Amino acid sequence: MAENLNVLQSTQYIIEQALTRLGYSDGMVQLLKEPMRVLTVRIPVRMDDDSVQVFTGYRAQHNDAVGPTKGGVRFHPDVTEDEVKALSIWMSLKCGIVDLPYGGGKGGIVCDPRQMSFRELERLSRGYVRAISQIVGPTKDIPAPDVMTNSQIMAWMMDEYSRIREFDAPGFITGKPLVLGGSHGRETATARGVTIMINEALKKKGIHLKDARVIIQGFGNAGSYLAKFMHDAGAKVVGISDVYGGLYDKDGLDIEYLLDRRDSFGTVTKLFKNTLSNREFLEQECDILVPAAIENQITADNADRIRASIVVEAANGPTTLEATRILTERGVLIVPDVLASAGGVVVSYFEWVQNNQGYYWTEAEVLSRLQEVMEKAFENVYNVHITRNVDMRLAAYMVGVRKMAEAARFRGWV
Ligand code: GLU
Repeated sequence: MAENLNVLQSTQYIIEQALTRLGYSDGMVQLLKEPMRVLTVRIPVRMDDDSVQVFTGYRAQHNDAVGPTKGGVRFHPDVTEDEVKALSIWMSLKCGIVDLPYGGGKGGIVCDPRQMSFRELERLSRGYVRAISQIVGPTKDIPAPDVMTNSQIMAWMMDEYSRIREFDAPGFITGKPLVLGGSHGRETATARGVTIMINEALKKKGIHLKDARVIIQGFGNAGSYLAKFMHDAGAKVVGISDVYGGLYDKDGLDIEYLLDRRDSFGTVTKLFKNTLSNREFLEQECDILVPAAIENQITADNADRIRASIVVEAANGPTTLEATRILTERGVLIVPDVLASAGGVVVSYFEWVQNNQGYYWTEAEVLSRLQEVMEKAFENVYNVHITRNVDMRLAAYMVGVRKMAEAARFRGWV
């Protein structure tokens, strides 16, 4: 498979394969290979020095046959329209895999939040909500955090939306602070979901967690909490990295120290001399490799040199199609992004349910429901992988796309 496909094209390629294997027509492929709606907006923001900077933002809604669309908003300098479109399709697949009553959506703003002040970020967040307010809402499309966005940004967005609509709308967005209708367990949900996936994958490989050596690429929300959970569970975290470089110690890193020194954008390695390049880092000895950063990290160039026997994708889109083929042929068990990173949206769904009911759950209730949903999702995908003799990614797409396709068929769209 060509390596030069971008994330959207490779997603479309697997969607087509999944639908064809499930016996759907070309009409269904045409419907589901593109988002049904993409809005591009320009957001003028008054900067602290009184100049005006105009930012580009997107909101893509993949398909709402199952229910309102759902998915995060990322703030990143490299955001593109195709990336946001692909991410919205992945959200549909995630929601299908964990069986939520949602389709997928995604948003992004081309910006570098590391270079912006607190108040500039507030103005940008509010400006984005004003720009997209017509197409979003608690029963239309529900945003959430993603790369470099957090609960403070969700709070500003919720406040802006509530002011526009003139009623309190906590169900407009998830990943909010607890005092504004956030859910217990949302902050750590992606990492908890990944932890559950690691445990399931280890069972299939007959490895004990206490004997497992883990490398985690990325020290943001997912990566840092995952490092903590792995460390607390007695696994050896031998590698962590951030945008500036990687740290590796075969005897295990001092995770508590690293968590303590990490800044709010998940960077810590600047404190060290002699860090590894990203490339060297991914090729170090380990049992489990968790890409928890951004897209296209494991490619045809390095897939042969990955030493892990399990790859659990906490990031969206970290492994290319060709790399998936190489790893699968080498017997590496891949837990694909659309399954492995679904813990976040599962607890977002719980948050939205609590907002709609005005009745709030304990952390124990959230976590036990999350555990049940994620274990079942892993088993469903793994069974399709074995019984249909397809790789784990295609299996996940087949599970993820089925409900949406059925819903579209019942609605008479195809
Ligand atoms: N941005 C997260 C994801 O990619 C969470 C989305 C959500 O909670 O709606 O899955």
